[in-house]
Amino acid sequence: MIDGLAMADTDRTLRSLEAGLGVGRVRRSVPLAPLTTFGVGGPADWFIEVRTSDEVARAVRAAHVTGVPLTILGGGSNVVIGDRGVRGLVVQVHGGAVHQTRPGTVRADGGVTVNGLVRWTISRALAGLERWAGTPGTVGGAVYGNAHFDGRLIGDLIEAVGVVNETGTFHEIPADAMEFGYDRSRLQRTAEVLLWAEFVVAPGEAGALRAEARRSLAYRKQTQPLAAASAGCVFRNPDPAHDTLPPGIAPSAGALIDAAGLKDRVVGGARVSTTHGNFIVNAGEATAADIRALVTICQRAVAERYGVELRPEIVYLGEF
Ligand SMILES: Cc1cc2nc3c(=O)[nH]c(=O)nc-3n(C[C@H](O)[C@H](O)[C@H](O)COP(=O)(O)OP(=O)(O)OC[C@H]3O[C@@H](n4cnc5c(N)ncnc54)[C@H](O)[C@@H]3O)c2cc1C
Repeated sequence: MIDGLAMADTDRTLRSLEAGLGVGRVRRSVPLAPLTTFGVGGPADWFIEVRTSDEVARAVRAAHVTGVPLTILGGGSNVVIGDRGVRGLVVQVHGGAVHQTRPGTVRADGGVTVNGLVRWTISRALAGLERWAGTPGTVGGAVYGNAHFDGRLIGDLIEAVGVVNETGTFHEIPADAMEFGYDRSRLQRTAEVLLWAEFVVAPGEAGALRAEARRSLAYRKQTQPLAAASAGCVFRNPDPAHDTLPPGIAPSAGALIDAAGLKDRVVGGARVSTTHGNFIVNAGEATAADIRALVTICQRAVAERYGVELRPEIVYLGEF
């Protein structure tokens, strides 16, 4: 009887989502681990992959009308999905287009990869994004977390973005209203979904831009454990304006973890990288619970030893 009722509910949810998104587009119980760079986590109750801005907005509206929780996934390169999966509808924003809106401005859809955007601009001799070569993930994820590299924030290159709010209503937001800060954007507060972002570019020389992109890639290769599954840096770097840092240790989360003797620490299949202390790698069979436990061990050890609170940069999604 309970099963029958649950089945009726499930059918109703599916019909309602399909009314907004089209029959056959929404899938049930879809494993999410393969859609993330960490490779951990359980399934989504409901899942749809969308590409265009119009599809993203329709998915947001369909979740709202159906009354199911909504989770957005981009390239899955900054998330830890809980082992019990994600309730409601997971929308993966994947693909899209880039075009030049006017001289000096390029617009990329939220599901375009940062690497795709870098390639697009370099091949048209447009400068500005070349140093971001090698950043995994999508434009949507990069704006959400205001991706950073080598002391630069991607938000500094943005002129405006297009978003939909939780009911699917469109808004254009200028960069100065995006609340960009280190690892921070307004999207984290509002849960708005990014449809596109406009980047400022300048005329450049394709060969020189390519060389700059190669330098960034080489630097990453040298300093990051790229052969292992991870989600990049786990923790935000401490803020010298707010955190009292121990003398003699660089103001970085990786340096604090290293100094606390945590490199190579293991919980289950999760390990603190020996190449970069701020990376946790999935050494094979890690679960999300292993990763979270290792995160907590690092936080406690650094707090006890140095009095510094390490704040996660990675995003936890779903149930653990
Ligand atoms: C090897 C490696 C190296 C990395 N190096 C860097 C680095 O140098 N600098 C850096 O900043 N990060 C780095 N990262 C982390 C990651 O690449 C970035 O955070 C990236 O911008 C995340 O994008 P994503 O599309 O994968 O987002 P996801 O991981 O899919 O999602 C991250 C968050 O963004 C939200 N989100 C995604 N798309 C949208 C959208 N369209 N609208 C609203 N919200 C959205 C999600 O809901 C989630 O909360 C690295 C990761 C790896 C694995």
